[in-house]
Amino acid sequence: MARVAVIGAGIAGLSAAYHLREQADVTVFEKEANAGGHANSVEVTDAGRTLGLDTAFIVYNEPHYQKITQFFAELGVACQAHPGRFSFNNADTRTCYVSDDFELDEAAIRAKYPEDFVQLWTEAERFYRESPGHFIRKQAEMSLGEYLTANGYSDTFRYGFVVLVATAAWSVPADRIWDMPAATVIAFFLGHGREGLGGRTAPWRTVTGGSINYVRAVLERLGAAGQDIRLGTSVTKVAETAAGVEVSTGASVEMGTEAGTELFDEVIIALHADDALGVLAEPTPQQRMLEAIQYNTTKAALHTDAACMPADREQWRSWNYARSGDNDNMSTWVVYYLNQLHDFTSATDYFLTLDYPFAIAPERIIQEFDYRHPVFTTEARSLQSSIHTINAGDSRIKFAGSYFHSRKMGIDIVGSHESGFDSGAAAADAVVRSLSVDSAR
Ligand SMILES: Cc1cc2nc3c(=O)[nH]c(=O)nc-3n(C[C@H](O)[C@H](O)[C@H](O)COP(=O)(O)OP(=O)(O)OC[C@H]3O[C@@H](n4cnc5c(N)ncnc54)[C@H](O)[C@@H]3O)c2cc1C
Repeated sequence: MARVAVIGAGIAGLSAAYHLREQADVTVFEKEANAGGHANSVEVTDAGRTLGLDTAFIVYNEPHYQKITQFFAELGVACQAHPGRFSFNNADTRTCYVSDDFELDEAAIRAKYPEDFVQLWTEAERFYRESPGHFIRKQAEMSLGEYLTANGYSDTFRYGFVVLVATAAWSVPADRIWDMPAATVIAFFLGHGREGLGGRTAPWRTVTGGSINYVRAVLERLGAAGQDIRLGTSVTKVAETAAGVEVSTGASVEMGTEAGTELFDEVIIALHADDALGVLAEPTPQQRMLEAIQYNTTKAALHTDAACMPADREQWRSWNYARSGDNDNMSTWVVYYLNQLHDFTSATDYFLTLDYPFAIAPERIIQEFDYRHPVFTTEARSLQSSIHTINAGDSRIKFAGSYFHSRKMGIDIVGSHESGFDSGAAAADAVVRSLSVDSAR
């Protein structure tokens, strides 16, 4: 059987390895001690039971994540619904509104809120109503800032709604949101329900006990198929030669592994785009197309410090978006209230904050992470129309990662578990095609 290396064991790499499990002799290289990448649950003991708390990938919905849904079913992984819902907080003025309010009629909104919020609510309603038509008719092929200006949206809507949902969804600073392609942002609202992440129109689901449970199920399948999973093994160089592809790895004292180089027939690099270019000994001009994908780092903290939440507990929701500062110099952040997101009850409240700008009580921090997320610029969007060609040439090196769009859902469904899973399947198909060409020679 042909030898194939898969580098990176996030959803993209796991999907590639899973799709090749009966067709090749696969070795998976993962630099961390655990597989999963952004499917990263921390397990805590709480009143004698184990709770799996997700610290990055946490939600999907069946209509827009069809392949992931099918994958979880194939693995026999238990998943569960949760109610979605978000709150928006202004930490300076201590004002807060909740997504349930979008279900009220205008008279009820006017009775409950000041004029500023009525304006925001009215424009949000208009955005939900009009933007899908603009997206479908290709009238949103411009930056988000241009789209909002062209359609007469106010600063109240931009800085009280759009910026909070968008910075949380893409983990990018507020001042970069306006340069994002409007179509990608609108597609996100279409794919995640009318209100975006945390809305109630999408039927939200999460893996019971945390995403660690699906990762364990995949690893079991890969192990049963005889795949060699090498955790704690960082790939430092990938070089294509006449004989195949050489994969070099670094030593790890912690994992007791030694540096080495091995030859494979085919390699799938399932890393972030910039890391993929970083390990290539000699990137070809075509492979350099990946330079268009840039990344931004998000600081995630898993903790139990409720100071990050709205003062009124009645306003706590699954997702809690917040801002501080004025429009030109603003910090935005999001707090996942994990008790609601994972739907468990506990005497302890668990939170995941992303880019929280204030101090968290040190004794309440469980673990902290730096995650990197692609920044979707107009250039990165343009690349999506040709990105899958990178796996269509003669090279024995293929690529996968959630920076590819999902082929079924179109160029704007990118950066999600669905797109990561689909890209792994596509890279595996490309490897099978290359191998069959080789064997026909
Ligand atoms: C905070 C946060 C929340 C998110 N929430 C959701 C969500 O709810 N739903 C959703 O659909 N998406 C969510 N996402 C998007 C998420 O990024 C994608 O869904 C997906 O998990 C990314 O998968 P990936 O395989 O492309 O990358 P990763 O999961 O990052 O996997 C890459 C892997 O490569 C490994 N690696 C790196 N360098 C090397 C090397 N040199 N050698 C060997 N291995 C290496 C890494 O350790 C990692 O395991 C979230 C992202 C973030 C940051």
